[in-house]
Amino acid sequence: MVVYLIGAGPGDPDLITLKAVKALNIADVVIYDRLANEEILKHAPDKAKLIYVGKKAGEHYKSQDEINEIIINEAKDDNNEIIIRLKGGDPFVFGRGGEEILDLIKENISFEIIPGVTSAIGAPTSVGLPVTHRAIATSFTVVTGHEDPTKDKKQVKWDYTADTIIVLMGIGKIKENTSEMMKYRDPKTPACVIESGTLPNEKIIFGTLENIADKNINTPAILIVGNVIDVFKEINEFKNKKINIS
Ligand code: SAH
Repeated sequence: MVVYLIGAGPGDPDLITLKAVKALNIADVVIYDRLANEEILKHAPDKAKLIYVGKKAGEHYKSQDEINEIIINEAKDDNNEIIIRLKGGDPFVFGRGGEEILDLIKENISFEIIPGVTSAIGAPTSVGLPVTHRAIATSFTVVTGHEDPTKDKKQVKWDYTADTIIVLMGIGKIKENTSEMMKYRDPKTPACVIESGTLPNEKIIFGTLENIADKNINTPAILIVGNVIDVFKEINEFKNKKINIS
């Protein structure tokens, strides 16, 4: 028996790896999250047991401990050989995948980890936003905009020196976070938001560090700050023109 921790990619169901599909093809159980596109489940055999552990409107959603318990119980069930734990994006980028693996180790359960295309890079790349660009950005930082409120001490200080800042889970606190960033960066720095990246309802919103928080934004979304957005604008303009011509 083995537990596969798999990244489902940023949204578009075709952005999953071949290795992940091969594992899904032989799954006995698939335990999946809200951000893992449900279309991906069609790669699992019809007889596979599908367990949803994400949020559902108006319902209690499972705590991390409860999820870990479900994975372990399924792994210990003699009827199961291949257990898939499917997560949105990459399982180790703000996915709590590390915690799940450490719990499996405690139980002496074998595992394999299959990376996924993270939304942090996959969403910008797919729209034509290069997170690094010669002479403009030699580094990027991926940071959470919603640090665990139960932590005693904040680790995120917003004083990052990377040229491009990519904020995940950053919409709820976008006003506070952009104000903090403006302590270290020019308020006129270009900023943009990608909503539902790689999905049919994808939307791009442009602004600057000082005004992006005032825009109407729906989740899931990532916030990107930095001069690479000027390069993106050029690429985007061309893409839009092409669409108009055809
Ligand atoms: N492990 C995931 C991230 C989980 S945290 C990954 O690697 O992508 C969840 C956050 O990811 C969301 O709050 C949002 O900021 C971002 N996100 C996930 N999917 C997204 C998408 N399709 N478009 C934009 N942002 C997305």
